[in-house]
Amino acid sequence: MLTPAAPMPIPGHIDPVPVPRAPLPARPDGRVDLIGLTRDQLRDALADAGMEPRQAKLRGKQLWHWIYNRGATDFSVMTDIAKAQHPWLAQRFVIGRPEVVEAQASSDGTRKWLVRSVDGHDYECVFIPDADRGTLCVSSQVGCTLNCTFCHTGTMRLVRNLTAGEIVGQVMLARDALGEWPSQPDGRMLTNIVLMGMGEPLYNFDNVRDALALVMDGDGLALSKRRITLSTSGVVPMMARAGTEIGVNLAVSLHAVTKEVRDEIVPLNRKYGIEELLAACAAYPGASNARRITFEYVMLKDKNDSDADARELVRLLRHYDLPAKVNLIPFNPWPGAPYECSTPDRVRRFSQIVFEGGISAPVRTPRGRDIDAACGQLRTAAERRRRSQERRAELAPA
Ligand code: SAH
Ligand code: SF4
Repeated sequence: MLTPAAPMPIPGHIDPVPVPRAPLPARPDGRVDLIGLTRDQLRDALADAGMEPRQAKLRGKQLWHWIYNRGATDFSVMTDIAKAQHPWLAQRFVIGRPEVVEAQASSDGTRKWLVRSVDGHDYECVFIPDADRGTLCVSSQVGCTLNCTFCHTGTMRLVRNLTAGEIVGQVMLARDALGEWPSQPDGRMLTNIVLMGMGEPLYNFDNVRDALALVMDGDGLALSKRRITLSTSGVVPMMARAGTEIGVNLAVSLHAVTKEVRDEIVPLNRKYGIEELLAACAAYPGASNARRITFEYVMLKDKNDSDADARELVRLLRHYDLPAKVNLIPFNPWPGAPYECSTPDRVRRFSQIVFEGGISAPVRTPRGRDIDAACGQLRTAAERRRRSQERRAELAPA
């Protein structure tokens, strides 16, 4: 385990590499999952399977609507597609959903799903209902290469990028569970999406971009870019592209205001320092006073929570003239975590100083604690699951 004081090599992949356009993960039955394909890819998949090109174009459009607007998972309900064609489609394609291995509901209404990919990786997504909105917290990777010392996900050794289908699949799954088909503009429970689950979304840029394009498409899931927030630990070289090619709200995991502390708790800081990061924020396309950048700040006792830290935070955000709001996140401890959460008094005082500096700094209330659904906990259930499976395998007779 990492001790915070010990010098640490820069972990993980510190230079963003474009994600290779991996082939769709093969299903055991050989059929192709249509979830996650762009409109053009959907049309091409039909044509590649032998459908005449003009018909593939028309059927592609119809399928798109059934999949993303109506939430259909079965070709037989598609009334505008000739009945005789349903078996042809069903032999070659599926409209999949991630396999749910565990679904939990918290006493405060938070819901969590542990899902498994076709190649056996577990990842999680969480739905958090509030009075005026419902937010789905989505994962972008299994694990994370970045090893922030306070984050449980960062201690997972296994890392794999989720495909666009696996990312949008989390939204489809939540819509199923909430009974929100067909897709309607009003009265939805699932109104917002945050990429704050497992993983660093800007290290899986192409898949995140493609998945969010599906989520934002007006004919389908139709969530507005103003209701989607991408959280990054500070992958500076990808931030401008995130703004222009994805265009959603930006959240930045700042967590510290000095090089010394941020180098320790967010090791990516050794590569892209605070100044560089804040300059990239100032240049983020689309940020304005109406669309502020959220700076996340996890409250760690005696580490980053002093009055001086709060004042320096205000100075930095002002210096870069950032349209900013600060989200103070009480640290969620996990077994073996090298930190404690700041005291409630300290968190209040910190919030007050930032607020008096003219920047809003609400304290995020932890949700779904009874089901380990809170930030940085998204590894817990997955791991427990894996362990008990391994145990079962050991106990099984050869
Ligand atoms: N990798 C991205 C997005 C996923 S992490 C990022 O780091 O921004 C989502 C948020 O949860 C981040 O702000 C992260 O710092 C925070 N977080 C991680 N572990 C936490 C913990 N144990 N307690 C509180 N917040 C945590
Ligand atoms: Fe990765 Fe974000 Fe966790 Fe850091 S806080 S290890 S970047 S998931």
